[in-house]
Amino acid sequence: MIFSVTILGSGSALPTSKRLPSAHVLNAHERLFLIDCAEGTQMQLRKLKLRLSKIEHIFISHLHGDHTLGLFGLLSTYNLLGRHTALHIYAHKELEPILWANVNFFVEKLRYKLVFHALNPKDKECIYENENLYVESIPLKHRIPACGFIFREKECVLNIRKELIDRYELGLSDIASIKNGADLVSPTGELIPNAELTYRPFKARSYAYCSDTLYSATVADYVKGVDLLYHEATFAHNLLDLARQTGHTTAHQAATVAKDAGVGQLVIGHFSSRYKDVTPLLTEAKRVFPCSFAANDGDTYSIPRQRL
Ligand SMILES: [Zn+2]
Ligand SMILES: [Zn+2]
Repeated sequence: MIFSVTILGSGSALPTSKRLPSAHVLNAHERLFLIDCAEGTQMQLRKLKLRLSKIEHIFISHLHGDHTLGLFGLLSTYNLLGRHTALHIYAHKELEPILWANVNFFVEKLRYKLVFHALNPKDKECIYENENLYVESIPLKHRIPACGFIFREKECVLNIRKELIDRYELGLSDIASIKNGADLVSPTGELIPNAELTYRPFKARSYAYCSDTLYSATVADYVKGVDLLYHEATFAHNLLDLARQTGHTTAHQAATVAKDAGVGQLVIGHFSSRYKDVTPLLTEAKRVFPCSFAANDGDTYSIPRQRL
């Protein structure tokens, strides 16, 4: 069961020949979730052979152009492709009238259902769930309201310890109720708690996307223990004042969030176009949190299933 993140754009506001602005795709169990949609997103999706039709949910972190301006073109393309399935967009409420103005002006007759979901910029909230996954939005601190997103795989169903089936002569209905979490009363009247009868075969995986934001210790609380954290690191720490003025984070601060949160891996990105080579930012991050990586457009980070 796949759980991977592909980075479509790892740059900040100014696109360069190497880095487009922000967009990511999460593949969770063969469903694609688009996170931010900067200019160039649909070309990147094509280039990386990620099927546009597999996207049914788009999450927009905030309404700066380097996270949003690819959305209108993508919506138009979907219409040209004859899309019929519904498309859900999660964004701050101010986008809704702009979205409809664009769609009504540029799309002759919308063939698919477009559903807008307003984010709560103030509190953590569960904004979506399906049978495998749920998505939380978390408030970030930027120049305008901004949200991060945490994608959490649901815990897999309980497995029953096989040797206990014979020992307690369990029938099909016993097995079904134990798998649903019930305890067992044995033929001798002994109560056996569910935890002794069952196990979860795999650990649930998680991915957090935090861009754009000032450094905030609260973010570390929100993303505690995630397997993969993408955190913006627009500047190196020698430009801390600039980071503060513009509502951004330094590589050192992003790594501090990763360390404090005890995440599995950190990927830094949203690099300022002033950095032709981001090695110094990665070095800075690794000093604080060794398991750090620098995002590149087209990179995929897979989180393998781990047995418990
Ligand atoms: Zn940005
Ligand atoms: Zn921004």
